[in-house]
Formats: sequence, structure tokens, C-alpha cells
Amino acid sequence: MMSLSDNILKKHKLRITQFRSEVIDIFNEAGRALSSNDIEAKLKDADRITLYRTLKNFEDKGIIHRAMDGTQTQKYAMCEAECDEYHHHDEHVHFHCENCENTFCMDNVFVPKIILPNGFKMHNAHMVINGRCKNCG
Ligand SMILES: [Zn+2]
Ligand SMILES: [Zn+2]
Ligand SMILES: [Zn+2]
Repeated sequence: MMSLSDNILKKHKLRITQFRSEVIDIFNEAGRALSSNDIEAKLKDADRITLYRTLKNFEDKGIIHRAMDGTQTQKYAMCEAECDEYHHHDEHVHFHCENCENTFCMDNVFVPKIILPNGFKMHNAHMVINGRCKNCG
């Protein structure tokens, strides 16, 4: 039986390595967006260079996306099933908790349709909601 992480790697045509599987497992277990420091702290053998390369690779392949939360810290989260190489479809809202500082994907809450003035072309839009998450109440 292949693990969930191995299936994800296979689907995105990446060779299965223990390191890659471990990073995906960390994302799946977290249930929130993670910074590279967050991931490093959970890795058995933290290798910063390999981690940066892996995150870049995962982003390119459509496995993770940047969870923009209005803070200075770049965070990533697992993509939805439809994402693939260079085509992301993560047009959902991100929620940033002011209490625990965690950032969550609101997978079923979408950025509303934006109508721009003539001459402006939108490439992407990010929406962040600040507040208190369900863990903080
Ligand atoms: Zn994506
Ligand atoms: Zn919170
Ligand atoms: Zn997200």
C-alpha cells in the first residue's frame, strides 16, 4: 500500500524520496499553513538547502501554494487536488489568527469576483481575513 504522500508525489510525477514524503506528511498533519522554519522544526534530518529546493519544486509542481497572510513570513499550504505543474487553482481566502499567529486555508471560501477599471489586467488576487481561529475561540 502506498502512503498518501507517495501517491501525491506519483501523481505529480516526482520521484518518491523519504525527504519529500516526510515534508508532505508534515503538511498533511499540520492542517494549517507552514513556514520553512515550522517545517524545519518538525523534520528528523533538517537540511535547509534541501528543504528550500523541495518547497520550490513542490510549488512548481502544484503540490503546495503560497498562503499569503499579510505577514512578513512566507507560508505554504497543501494545494487542492486540481493543481498541477504551473497551474494553481487556489483562489480561496486565507485566514490569519491574531492570537496564535497561525494561517489557515479557507478551502471553500473564495475570493469574490473583482471588476477592475478598464486597462487593468488581473493576474492573481489574495484575500486575508484577520481574526481569531476556532482553536482560540
Ligand atoms: Zn495550488
Ligand atoms: Zn488561533
Ligand atoms: Zn491556501
